[in-house]
Amino acid sequence: MSRNAHPAGPRHGDVLPDAPHGSQPGDVNALDPAIWPESATRVGGELHLGGAPVSALVLEHGTPALFLDEADVRARARSYTQAFPGIDVYYAGKAFLCTAVARWVDEEGLGLDVCTGGELAVALAAGFPAERIALHGNNKSSAELGRAVEAGVGHVIVDSFDEIHRLIAIAATAGVTQRVLVRVTVGVEAHTHEFIATAHEDQKFGFSLRDGSAARAVAAVIASDVLHFGGLHSHIGSQIFETAGFEVAAHRVISFAATIRDVHGVQVEEINLGGGLGIAYVPGDDPETPKQTLERLSGIVEIECASVGLRLPTLSVEPGRAIIGPSGVTVYEVGTVKDVTLDGGQRRRYVSVDGGMSDNIRTALYDAHYTCVLANRASAAPPALTRVVGKHCESGDVVVRDAWLPGDVRPGDLVAVAATGAYCRSMASNYNHVPRPPVVGVDQGRSQVLVRRETEDDLLRLDTGVAR
Ligand SMILES: *Cc1c(COP(=O)(O)O)cnc(C)c1O
Repeated sequence: MSRNAHPAGPRHGDVLPDAPHGSQPGDVNALDPAIWPESATRVGGELHLGGAPVSALVLEHGTPALFLDEADVRARARSYTQAFPGIDVYYAGKAFLCTAVARWVDEEGLGLDVCTGGELAVALAAGFPAERIALHGNNKSSAELGRAVEAGVGHVIVDSFDEIHRLIAIAATAGVTQRVLVRVTVGVEAHTHEFIATAHEDQKFGFSLRDGSAARAVAAVIASDVLHFGGLHSHIGSQIFETAGFEVAAHRVISFAATIRDVHGVQVEEINLGGGLGIAYVPGDDPETPKQTLERLSGIVEIECASVGLRLPTLSVEPGRAIIGPSGVTVYEVGTVKDVTLDGGQRRRYVSVDGGMSDNIRTALYDAHYTCVLANRASAAPPALTRVVGKHCESGDVVVRDAWLPGDVRPGDLVAVAATGAYCRSMASNYNHVPRPPVVGVDQGRSQVLVRRETEDDLLRLDTGVAR
């Protein structure tokens, strides 16, 4: 397992725990409440989501489909805004964004992070208040910056000198003062239970604190009369379970804020510590609650500011996965079941489903781990060591690498994979010309298509050689 697989993966590459197939689970029909959305229950053996039986959902919406539990998304969003008054919470739309989700997070009082013109277009189409939108990205085009300035986004997180120059020109032409945060690289890299405080800064994002480019970027912003220096931004990793990495990052960012005060006489208004808060994908994953995390972050910032005599800035965070990830469940239909014999004689069952790496690339890309269950019925059959795989022409097309599913899983059964709300549909592709699945909101027994299923016609429409 290479460390390179891990920037958005659940575990640090060097310390992958023993494969979960080492121990057989007690009850393969159970739904661990730490992993599944609150509305996931079994009624008469069958999985229900958002108050609806999965068989009825599938009858109406087909498979594969991503079901998003609206109440669960809203509750998680609220748990961040209510966890600690005074902290600004931005939902990182790259985890998954459509107009409905943008409206939900708006109604729950969050801001919204976008990092491309496309994400900005969805936010604006949803009527998301522009002043609570933040624009990220290491290579924002002039067109993207222009649209953001024109729309009146609250702030732009600047990431390069080229961008600062571009933005100055655009804001000057538009006759506006654009608020910006300066993204800094603090040399901390964090995943799950580990962080590295001396990570190399060999990455495309941000301005380095160490080599002085962050100081030069801040000076350029302060010197401009069409940019307003709003503060500093740092993002240290993803799927983080412990706040120690944030502590080191906050220490370095706040020391830098003190330098800015001393050099420029400018008070840093806002410090954004980014996203990356972890969620439970498999049993044993143990993220802190939003309240615990935000209280801790706020405490860290208070202590660090006190130690350098800095007036307390507004603290902001940008969770993506932690808001939308656990609320999504992907349901597939089983097409084939095949047993193979491993070296050493152990048997492994390959259960092929009607999607795969085109709707969930995370297993192939990051060696991510997922939990799945037989969804249309409970089963008392002895569990079998199972690999849930997709239908793509690629042996790495794995959805769940090691799962214990009932030994009688057969074609036509439904398999539900938990915690697929983040970075699955948003990273989906059309590999093998497999149309992307729909995203269906479920709530109180009702279901509503939020993003419809792609069709083969949709794909053929892009092909100019098709006779029409
Ligand atoms: C990806 C990203 C986030 C969200 O990360 P999660 O792991 O989904 O919380 C927040 N901020 C920035 C700058 C990011 O790149």
